[in-house]
Amino acid sequence: MPVDLLLKGGVVMTEGGLIPANIAITGEQIVGITALSESPAARRVVDVAGLHLLPGLIDTHSHHREPGFTDKEDIITATRACAAGGVTVSVAMPNVSPPPTTPEILRDMFALYEKKAIVDYNVNAAGTVVEEIPRLAPLGILAFKVFMVVDTGRSYPHMPGIGVHDHGKLMAIFEAVAKTGLPIMVHPHDQELMDHIEQGFWAKGERDFRAYAKAYSANDGVIWDTAVGMLLRLQQATGVRLHVLHLQTSLCAKMLRAAKDEGRPVTSEVNPWALWLGNDWKNIERLGSYALSYYVPPKQAEATWQAVLDGTADVIATDHAPHLKEEKEAGWTDGWKAHTGTPSTQYYLSLLLTDVLNGRIPLERAVELISTRPAKLFGLYPQKGAIRVGADADIVAVDMAAENTITNESVLSKCGWTPFAGRKVRGIPVHTLLRGQFVFEKGEVVGQPGYGRLARPQSSTTGTTGNRS
Ligand SMILES: [Zn+2]
Repeated sequence: MPVDLLLKGGVVMTEGGLIPANIAITGEQIVGITALSESPAARRVVDVAGLHLLPGLIDTHSHHREPGFTDKEDIITATRACAAGGVTVSVAMPNVSPPPTTPEILRDMFALYEKKAIVDYNVNAAGTVVEEIPRLAPLGILAFKVFMVVDTGRSYPHMPGIGVHDHGKLMAIFEAVAKTGLPIMVHPHDQELMDHIEQGFWAKGERDFRAYAKAYSANDGVIWDTAVGMLLRLQQATGVRLHVLHLQTSLCAKMLRAAKDEGRPVTSEVNPWALWLGNDWKNIERLGSYALSYYVPPKQAEATWQAVLDGTADVIATDHAPHLKEEKEAGWTDGWKAHTGTPSTQYYLSLLLTDVLNGRIPLERAVELISTRPAKLFGLYPQKGAIRVGADADIVAVDMAAENTITNESVLSKCGWTPFAGRKVRGIPVHTLLRGQFVFEKGEVVGQPGYGRLARPQSSTTGTTGNRS
């Protein structure tokens, strides 16, 4: 019997490393990985000679803005950008309106995705209503999410109602989530310290994007460090599986490392802006609030890279956070009025591969961070997260020799701009396959809304404790 599709002549990133091979696909799955000399009969053959075939990216942290904020982005535009960026599973964050705090609201969100998503998806439920946590857990979600941050002086992206910084309430949430066995993702933040630090800047008359950047990184990132210290202690008290978001200080990395070394179920995430954008003050001077997300000063940026390389960080996820230009413009004079966050899902693979080609990070480690490790942590492995026989045929084919300059015109996200415009990158996605079908082919999005499917946790998750990666 011929297979449905043969990807012929690529260099394949398998779990055992990089090998020249053909990939045979039937239906939605990989049915064979063969030597180049063995070509099974196939209904369709696609020549991928010269391309690297990597497992599709699993982005566990993305803001699709639907429902509620579809002037910024929607499920179709976000998942088009995913397809172009090699992302085959994109997991949405709950700061939408209404936020998914109950099974009824979550089911409505899933229904929107079922109609619109081009790539596979899930939604991290808001864990802010303790009584709803046991009702939300069985619906196929991968994790809960809590923001400790509540914005000062604006109502988005961290609106009231989903921010929790009361330690008692956080502990109650952790206890409830621990019983479900699912991980909880937390945006760490110390609101009381932030209030004090902000007042200091404002008293000096400093309110622009520079002051905003400096406030969030003030005192060597004290607002991040005290929050993570407290979260780790609550993790210890409750046994919950804690996934710390936005790792970006050296002390946070040290604390996470120590908890991992004790074998505790603690993992963490690093975002593109900490590696390629907010780590350089020149970008902030040039782009103002368009570069914020957050400022990560040199010492912290170096520690963050070290965490990425040594396994203290488990996952690179995008925190794709599109906002309109008019929502960023205010930041030139008042950084607290501009909406925080930067779009990134379309380009982070190429940004990372550029650093692979520059020798900063091995390709194997890069693939672990963007695909295999998130799949294992959130229960999608072995169906997703690796190129192996029996897995979903979720594959991104990249041209490691190609170079491209990122432009605003090439942005598929509805916001229509990228802070990476003008950046030269190498390692360019050419095709993205999701469950055996092209959703991005020869540089064009060909996937249709409604093809994406809920990526449910399949396995009891692995590797959540301790060890280096
Ligand atoms: Zn986020």
